[in-house]
Amino acid sequence: MSHPEQSRHLATAIPGPRSQALIDRKGTAVARGVGTTMPVYAVRAGGGIVEDVDGNRLIDLGSGIAVTTVGNSAPKVVEAVRSQVGDFTHTCFMVTPYEGYVAVCEQLNRLTPVRGDKRSALFNSGSEAVENAVKIARSHTHKPAVVAFDHAYHGRTNLTMALTAKVMPYKDGFGPFAPEIYRAPLSYPFRDAEFGKELATDGELAAKRAITVIDKQIGADNLAAVVIEPIQGEGGFIVPADGFLPTLLDWCRKNDVVFIADEVQTGFARTGAMFACEHEGIDPDLIVTAKGIAGGLPLSAVTGRAEIMDSPHVSGLGGTYGGNPIACAAALATIETIESEGLVARAQQIEKIMKDRLGRLQAEDDRIGDVRGRGAMIAMELVKAGTTEPDADLTKALCAGAHAAGVIVLSCGTYGNVVRFLPPLSIGDDLLNEGLDVLEEVLRGA
Ligand SMILES: *Cc1c(COP(=O)(O)O)cnc(C)c1O
Repeated sequence: MSHPEQSRHLATAIPGPRSQALIDRKGTAVARGVGTTMPVYAVRAGGGIVEDVDGNRLIDLGSGIAVTTVGNSAPKVVEAVRSQVGDFTHTCFMVTPYEGYVAVCEQLNRLTPVRGDKRSALFNSGSEAVENAVKIARSHTHKPAVVAFDHAYHGRTNLTMALTAKVMPYKDGFGPFAPEIYRAPLSYPFRDAEFGKELATDGELAAKRAITVIDKQIGADNLAAVVIEPIQGEGGFIVPADGFLPTLLDWCRKNDVVFIADEVQTGFARTGAMFACEHEGIDPDLIVTAKGIAGGLPLSAVTGRAEIMDSPHVSGLGGTYGGNPIACAAALATIETIESEGLVARAQQIEKIMKDRLGRLQAEDDRIGDVRGRGAMIAMELVKAGTTEPDADLTKALCAGAHAAGVIVLSCGTYGNVVRFLPPLSIGDDLLNEGLDVLEEVLRGA
């Protein structure tokens, strides 16, 4: 194992010559549709650093999109994967099952904020797990319709493209999409403020607005499930106003509608709780997890109330690779790492550092319209100075400036004007602060 030295270092311009050569090879070998955020090619990563082929060491404020929450090549994960890969790599759980799969399900049932007797099923990607959650909800309710929300992101497969809100780049030209998917208004405090202070701060009111749309345009008798991210990821790290999620859940319970929390991005200690639903005091019927679940190996899950999870007939759920033994070993080691290293508390510390600094920056820069998020999932929404008009150009310039200076940051948001921070919880305070220093400097100059 060789973690890179924990310091930012620019050996060449970004990208350096070796990355440039790989960019050229990509251009003639990889389909154009697969884009990249950074113009550099990685060779090793760990702690809070990603090192590239030219010897540049970049501060990682992205975690490969909220995946390496416990850090890249976290020691326990590496050890568990090495051991499993030597024993067996695959038998297919549906053919010759193995303990790791059952053990991951037991851990998910223990950790998730779902009430009562629980069951889990494992898949490969977040999208695949969201699709399976919808299958399970339809099987349980015998109803067809599904509601997703404005700004939602649930994946890139056909059903999840239909659930995802934003057309570019996720859906444009890729239809027709799955039927019986409907969209309801979200609680988006920063933008709802344009429609009155009450809507921005009163989550119950925002929920009533959504419920009216659901009631009048779909009807509970036709509705199998509501799918929602407790804090939106790609949509812009939108934290709904207090009361929004509990009011929605309450309506679902009264109307035989399955409440599905998509915690693919928010799960596994990312937000300063094991799951973001805990901040809202809600217990969803089904909870979908992926990204941070297995320290970088592809794994996803649906966990939920036993009577719902057990609705599909025997062999109705599955997949060749779902719950692959190596990914399961990595997930068990990831969970052990989160618990033994106190990473939930670490995410809370990171929130404090980032919110303090970004809050101070916002006080002196009226291009920062909003600073929000929880734990190590923090964003700032950039606007034309002193207005609420989104500034996507400034966002692009800021990200590009940070990248050139050796800091990996991502943007997101419906309007492309949100800079998001998803540092690995293994990052040191010094690197985190240095990353924010760079950002501050680039923003001042932009
Ligand atoms: C990333 C993401 C997905 C899709 O996961 P994939 O593994 O990319 O298929 C679904 N929902 C949310 C909230 C996500 O952030």
